[in-house]
Amino acid sequence: MKEKREYGFATLCIHGKKHLDKHEVGRPIRAVSTPIFQSSTFAFESAEHGAAVFAGTDDGYVYTRLGNPTQAALEMEMAYLERGEAALALASGMAAATTAVLACCQSGEHLVAGDTLYGGTHQLFTQTLPRMGIQVTEVDVRDPRNFAAAITKKTRLLYVETPANPTLVLTDLPAVAAVAHEAGIPLLVDNTFCTPYLQNPLELGADVVLHSATKYIGGHGDTVAGILVGRQDWILNARMEILRDVGGCISPFNAWLLLRGLKTLPVRMDRHCENAMEIAQFLSYHPKVREVIYPGLKTHPQHELARRQQRNFGGMISFLVEGGREAGRLVMNGVELCTLAVSLGDVDTLIEHPATMTHSTYSEDELHRVGIDPAMIRLSVGLENVDDLIYDLRQALARI
Ligand code: PLP
Repeated sequence: MKEKREYGFATLCIHGKKHLDKHEVGRPIRAVSTPIFQSSTFAFESAEHGAAVFAGTDDGYVYTRLGNPTQAALEMEMAYLERGEAALALASGMAAATTAVLACCQSGEHLVAGDTLYGGTHQLFTQTLPRMGIQVTEVDVRDPRNFAAAITKKTRLLYVETPANPTLVLTDLPAVAAVAHEAGIPLLVDNTFCTPYLQNPLELGADVVLHSATKYIGGHGDTVAGILVGRQDWILNARMEILRDVGGCISPFNAWLLLRGLKTLPVRMDRHCENAMEIAQFLSYHPKVREVIYPGLKTHPQHELARRQQRNFGGMISFLVEGGREAGRLVMNGVELCTLAVSLGDVDTLIEHPATMTHSTYSEDELHRVGIDPAMIRLSVGLENVDDLIYDLRQALARI
């Protein structure tokens, strides 16, 4: 009998779990690229069939807010690549965060989060959720005991980003998962910076994975989207209880753009990592640079944890220049090839200032407490020729 071959990650990104089945529409049509089902609603075979679909006793698509074949193809791919049972694609990373929290917590309940998060998530946790009666305690993730100390009888979720945006602080996932499970609480991991190519949180003990798919999954700076991956029952509940009512569904076209992005994810991630490592090394020897934060450098305090938990170190670098905030401003205004813009994970190299841009939702005190220096510059290293990027950064640094 012919042996069943285990395909590599890059092959899976292109061919998916079931190469032909995923393109089936009634009968196999074998489109090489998954079709875009740009339809808001789907016809029933009969009144009885419609009633059965609504009652959940028969399968079938109903309405694109609840599910759509192009969305389903993306969800199946993401679940497979993240080694999860099921996935839910959403309109944005923030829609994914809101949906996940509302699927776990009600008014009067509580969640414990890492203290360094994307500024929008921090704003959701410290401003919007408390208005809805959900309280959040943010803790330093570097000691798992901080999670244990913050858990109360009302805690329903632990939530971390690793590596965190923009400090690149890592969470030891097996250690924090052990704390979560001891208390019977799920652990959600925002895996945006790593993607499933570099890290699989579910295999490290997490229960739910979140992606801002806007970033590396799409990869081309043209789509805003989010994804949740987890157990079948948890995802079904998030879809039917929260997405159905809150409504942050992804468009079929954006789902298709992400499916296309996934095909080149490993190739892009390899180059992001290679370029970032070279740039981090260049910056760390530059006399005008005070500090470089990159998990791939031996100087990163959690370098060993990064080696253990990730397959490579990613495309994100944060750094501080001599001369503080004013000098940093000169560098950001001085780049000619890098693009001065927020977001990350694009083919273009993007440079930004967390304290006044992505993390402007943190107060001065909070920035100080979590180690986001007001002079910190964040670089999302793209896929350009690395020599050109280094040339650009060198000429920008010379303006200090
Ligand atoms: N998580 C991380 C780590 C992010 O960097 C972002 C956005 O920058 C988000 C979540 C939110 O995602 P979106 O902008 O797709 O809503």
